[in-house]
Amino acid sequence: MDALTQPIRSVKGVGAKTEQLFQKTGVYTTGDILFRFPREYTKYPKAVEIPEALVDTNKKQAVLLRVESPATVKNGKKMPVTVITGKRAGVAMEFVWFRMPYVKSTLKNGETFILYGAVQTKGARRFMEQPVIYAPEKYAQIEGTLQPVYGLTAGLSNHIYKKTLRQALLQDLQLKECFAKDLLEKYGLMGYEQALYQIHFPESMKTLLEARRRFVFEEFFFFLLAMQKSKTQNLKKKNEFAFQPPDVLIDPLLKKLPFQLTDPQLRALNDIQNDMHGPYVMQRLLQGDVGSGKTILAFLAMYVAAASGYQSAIMAPTEVLARQHYETYCEYCKLFGIKAHIILLTGSMTARQKRSAYESMQLFKDAMVIGTHALIQERAVYENLSLVVTDEQHRFGVRQRETLADKGIDPHVLVMSATPIPRTLAVILYGDLDISVIDKLPATRLPIKNCVVGIGYREKSYEFIKKQALAGHQAYVICPLVEPSEAVEGENVIEYEQKLRQALPKEVTTGILHGKMRPEQKTQVMEAFAANEIHVLVSTTVVEVGVNVPNATVMMIEDAQRFGLAQLHQLRGRVGRGDAQSYCIFINTSDAPGAGERLAVLNKTNDGFYIASEDLKMRGPGDFFGIRQSGDMQFQLADIYQDAEVLQLASVEAKRYSDRLSFSENEPLRQRLEQYLGGRDKISI
Ligand code: ADP
Ligand code: MG
Repeated sequence: MDALTQPIRSVKGVGAKTEQLFQKTGVYTTGDILFRFPREYTKYPKAVEIPEALVDTNKKQAVLLRVESPATVKNGKKMPVTVITGKRAGVAMEFVWFRMPYVKSTLKNGETFILYGAVQTKGARRFMEQPVIYAPEKYAQIEGTLQPVYGLTAGLSNHIYKKTLRQALLQDLQLKECFAKDLLEKYGLMGYEQALYQIHFPESMKTLLEARRRFVFEEFFFFLLAMQKSKTQNLKKKNEFAFQPPDVLIDPLLKKLPFQLTDPQLRALNDIQNDMHGPYVMQRLLQGDVGSGKTILAFLAMYVAAASGYQSAIMAPTEVLARQHYETYCEYCKLFGIKAHIILLTGSMTARQKRSAYESMQLFKDAMVIGTHALIQERAVYENLSLVVTDEQHRFGVRQRETLADKGIDPHVLVMSATPIPRTLAVILYGDLDISVIDKLPATRLPIKNCVVGIGYREKSYEFIKKQALAGHQAYVICPLVEPSEAVEGENVIEYEQKLRQALPKEVTTGILHGKMRPEQKTQVMEAFAANEIHVLVSTTVVEVGVNVPNATVMMIEDAQRFGLAQLHQLRGRVGRGDAQSYCIFINTSDAPGAGERLAVLNKTNDGFYIASEDLKMRGPGDFFGIRQSGDMQFQLADIYQDAEVLQLASVEAKRYSDRLSFSENEPLRQRLEQYLGGRDKISI
């Protein structure tokens, strides 16, 4: 263990300056660098001539360039831009570098280079941006090998990173296998030391996959072990609260609702009420796809608390969502004719507003408190806290969930999530929680109509948005970027809104929303959109989480191929929340062959879990360190969908170990568990 806790400085070749750079990436010790796995691997392909290079923004290629005329350096808007054009058999390709004027002198006339990057097109122009330049002899050495790519920081190159790692691996690390031999054999798991080497410097794709599988097993195993430990600690806290009977409180309200709860909503409500009146406090996960109607259930549970004289709180991951819950709760109170103390507490409120919220929390012992992370700050003091709800819980870590609960004395806990995950896996991963699932959308909901189209369809889409807006509905248009960028291709919110305003008649109003806006600005825009003062909202993916504007019927997503399918599914969930027919238009701006195929999955189904699993299948093994599913549990390597089989195995073993609970006999295992527990923040569930 000792070698692993040595500062990174102790590794040969690491000086003070490099150490600082490493620290910036989160690497402080030898152990840190060894257990921070590559972000991805590149397999350097065979170099091809310009005419043979394929256009595919997702796949890097090696292209031969014979320098026949020198590169030019132009001063672009914000930076120098270096361009050189190569030609072969009448086919041209441009190679472009930003902020790197010095490459001009590298590219000597008459010499041949291999340029490594992704080929893009714009009109007839074929080009590569920021390609890496290799001399042919150098390239020959790496061609065909799998190279690890690490998360870096400015000044720390992948080369230095790899060199340091190799040095670290050369030390006497005293790595001890924590699993028994028969376990490794039974599941075909690679040994500890070998796996550590192979995950960084794989001999082949096969050994890489085996190494990964070993660590995925570990991650699941220790995660589950840790959870089981905390479960035995937390188990069955006594329910000390006396809530009034639900039939008296809730039944009359349900009659006043403008809709009927669906059967799964009723079942979940029943589960919640049984918990609240049971002998032990609730520890429940309420799971339901976007739009399945979780909020009303949270409201009803919190209302039971309020009507019984207790406080309750609901924590949302974003300011916008917290405010929206606040509005919704106020509306429900009006609708039901209830007088309740509803308190909003968010980070962007002024000091004065916050103080007033704190005072109200002291004053009203039956308040329903709604807010963001501000709810768990030290200054937020509760009275009588009997129930805590976390909405979109995958955005929070276990710690935050626990901190909110710690604000009261063993309050009931309800966590709500829209992460699509099959029940068998949920039972394993949320082992400390009981589970209710809303597996059906309200019947009045029409399925969303989808289309995946190219840029040629834009005009028609604007026409369609116009029609919908004039009929009283609203639309979202999503762009990947906030503002124009020279370094990244893609539509941006700022310019897109201007363009859209030209295309739409005056009476259709537009607005913008993105992460660079101040929280108050964002809130203002979201409120204007909710009030139908803005008809078309051009936004980045900030609208992804939980926002509810049932009047919105069109979701148009630009550069759709750049997003993960699961994320696109979440975005699509912003429409189809009312009774009107809704539409989702995915604009595929790439002509790469795979992109359309991937998006077609969304066309075919609205089933969140199916989409998540297809997404993974299509990405293939080389991609497994690429885009993470948005908003799932975050393991370093493991992916609950792709690695479902390993998860099942790990759960069997974790259970076996925790039943015996005899870590003392197995020192390496205990050490590894501690290592994982220490890094618990990284594992958020
Ligand atoms: P989510 O589960 O994604 O949080 P919400 O609670 O925001 O979904 O509900 C989405 C919309 O569906 C809201 O406008 C809500 O009023 C409405 N809704 C909830 N339950 C029903 C139902 N049983 N029938 C019709 N509409 C419903
Ligand atoms: Mg919600």
